[in-house]
Amino acid sequence: MKQKIRKGDTVEIISGRSEDKKKRGEVIRMIPTESRVVVQGVNIRSRHKGQTQAGRRQIDAGIVKFEAPIHISNVMLVCPKCNKATRVGFSRENGKLSRICKKCNADIDA
Ligand SMILES: [Zn+2]
Repeated sequence: MKQKIRKGDTVEIISGRSEDKKKRGEVIRMIPTESRVVVQGVNIRSRHKGQTQAGRRQIDAGIVKFEAPIHISNVMLVCPKCNKATRVGFSRENGKLSRICKKCNADIDA
């Protein structure tokens, strides 16, 4: 399957929440069924711990920060060769499918 973005890639956020725009981070999780990715340090949400449980208030009311998934159309791959956010092409050589940077034509997976 032709996947433009893979786990471990560095991506740049091209749209979405303004504080995340232009941010870069590593893809730490893929959610292929939703076409979403989780990017380290991007799209941070807070979840409050310590909901009441069985009518008893919990003392631990900490806040857990986590990265929420982003739709894959809101991110662009950062080419490891030229360090620019780029569109991705594909090339097949010797039966191996490689991703090609549209900016510098480098083989991203080489
Ligand atoms: Zn490049």
